[in-house]
Amino acid sequence: MNEKIKVVKNFIMRRYFSVFRSREKLERFQEKNILAQLKYIKAHSEYFRDIKADSADDLKALPYMDKHVMMENFNRLNCVGIDRDKALEIAINGEKTRDFDEKLDGISVGLSSGTSGARGLFIISDDERAMWAGGVLARFLPKGNIFGHKIAFFLRADNNLYETIDSKAIQFRYFDILKSMDGNLKELNEYQPSILVAPPSVLLLIASAMEKGEINVRPVKIVSVAEVLTENDEKYFKRIFGLDIIHQAYQCTEGFLGYVCECGRFHLSEDVIYVEREYIDDERFVPIITDFTRKSQPIIRYRLNDILVADKEKCPCGSACAVIKKIEGREDDIFIFDGPDGKDVTVFPDFISRCIIYAEGVRNYKVVQEDRKNITVYLDVTGDEIRNRITEEFRTLSGRMGFEMPEIRFEDYTYDPARKMKRVERKVR
Ligand SMILES: [Zn+2]
Repeated sequence: MNEKIKVVKNFIMRRYFSVFRSREKLERFQEKNILAQLKYIKAHSEYFRDIKADSADDLKALPYMDKHVMMENFNRLNCVGIDRDKALEIAINGEKTRDFDEKLDGISVGLSSGTSGARGLFIISDDERAMWAGGVLARFLPKGNIFGHKIAFFLRADNNLYETIDSKAIQFRYFDILKSMDGNLKELNEYQPSILVAPPSVLLLIASAMEKGEINVRPVKIVSVAEVLTENDEKYFKRIFGLDIIHQAYQCTEGFLGYVCECGRFHLSEDVIYVEREYIDDERFVPIITDFTRKSQPIIRYRLNDILVADKEKCPCGSACAVIKKIEGREDDIFIFDGPDGKDVTVFPDFISRCIIYAEGVRNYKVVQEDRKNITVYLDVTGDEIRNRITEEFRTLSGRMGFEMPEIRFEDYTYDPARKMKRVERKVR
């Protein structure tokens, strides 16, 4: 079957048919698919050859995986006989030459833009790619008019995934973040997208150019991807682009995990993944996901490094897929300070961000914990007043949570297109 037809078929399925309004129906659908996936991996993956696959509950007997396990066992794990080192070579070469068309035995290869150390490798077949593209379109084409859209995608690497979407009915253009931003902005202004997809760090540059009157683009929909979207940036984008909702796609190497619906709430894509929750406090949890659509590279009980914040309120959009309040950041980036009794005090990224936001007047910032006694705050504004206010906020937080007040050093903020933007980062391991 032609790839474009597959995309359309999956688009129609995901948009109009597999929409779950009842939790019970969704759970039955998940059970059926988990079982089918277990049977599939048992038959096709050497790593999973000896597992039990008689009921969906057998999933619970499997150990967790993460990026490390995936990379260590890559050759035995994948179901299409791809060699890790060969795949890595192609993916790295693609990133160097900015030409992402090379495939390995008909399978596309990509690297996750890792924020810390180890990079993840992902492989996807043309079939999976068509499914993925159909699913993404189903989620993100605005209600009513689905044709005639011009989509602008800003990404660090193309992975030749997205071009699947390009057609007469829906135009698509890929913008390489690592190319000159001035050139990109100029091209974007000429292109005039109706849908703009970009990481927050790039949206900030576009919004700032809008504010200065250098460009004028009026997308009807913005989808924030690849980085954590903070409430502060979200508000700024709404104002600059005159939109009520900034959409988000929670998309990573491991799959398409979540999206913001028409009501502006964040849903987990439980029609493609099964999510187990490892709670780290009353509302925050680390997701462990099982994707029941991935056939070349099984994602089974994969523990992500993200902190999600649960939301108990149902969404008025009617979808039975669970809602979360937000993605708060990476688990690795929880700050750890010394408490009075020698115990660790852990501080979530959100609390750190608030110290900056409450001080007001800062647009771009980054807070890095260098070690237990030192943090560096990078700011796009200077002056003693703002620095004193931020220091005061940290002092209040340290008093409230009972940790030893660290030394704070201030530096100028610089934008690095080659790196994923993180507002809060812990260096010390
Ligand atoms: Zn909703």
